[in-house]
Amino acid sequence: MWKGFRCRCPRCNNGKLFSSYLKVAQECPSCGQALHHHRADDAPPYFTMFIVGHLLVPLVFWVERVWKPDLSIHAALWLPSAILLTLWLLPMVKGAIVGLQWAIGMHGFGLSDEESSLVDPEALEQDGARFK
Ligand SMILES: [Zn+2]
Repeated sequence: MWKGFRCRCPRCNNGKLFSSYLKVAQECPSCGQALHHHRADDAPPYFTMFIVGHLLVPLVFWVERVWKPDLSIHAALWLPSAILLTLWLLPMVKGAIVGLQWAIGMHGFGLSDEESSLVDPEALEQDGARFK
């Protein structure tokens, strides 16, 4: 999970996990580990909101209690903070979820390389695992 959190391949810790901001690469560019098996789905946004909320809400209450700023100050402070923190954490949380799925062999990660090559990644994205 830590390797995934750092947006690295969960197997070799060298290759980049993502081919773009949130798109997981089909396979690791370094070791060739198939990564298309992941089914992170809604888990990364859920956990990211959970983390961001638990970080920011206590700060909001603390700032309100200590300084009692105007609501416009709160909005100017917390809305960008929430957006930026969410955008910063989301790939890392998604990487950690993919790393967890890899570690416990979920969704085809437990297959051998030969078996893995038989899984059609496009069919997997559409409606679950299918073999070529
Ligand atoms: Zn790798």
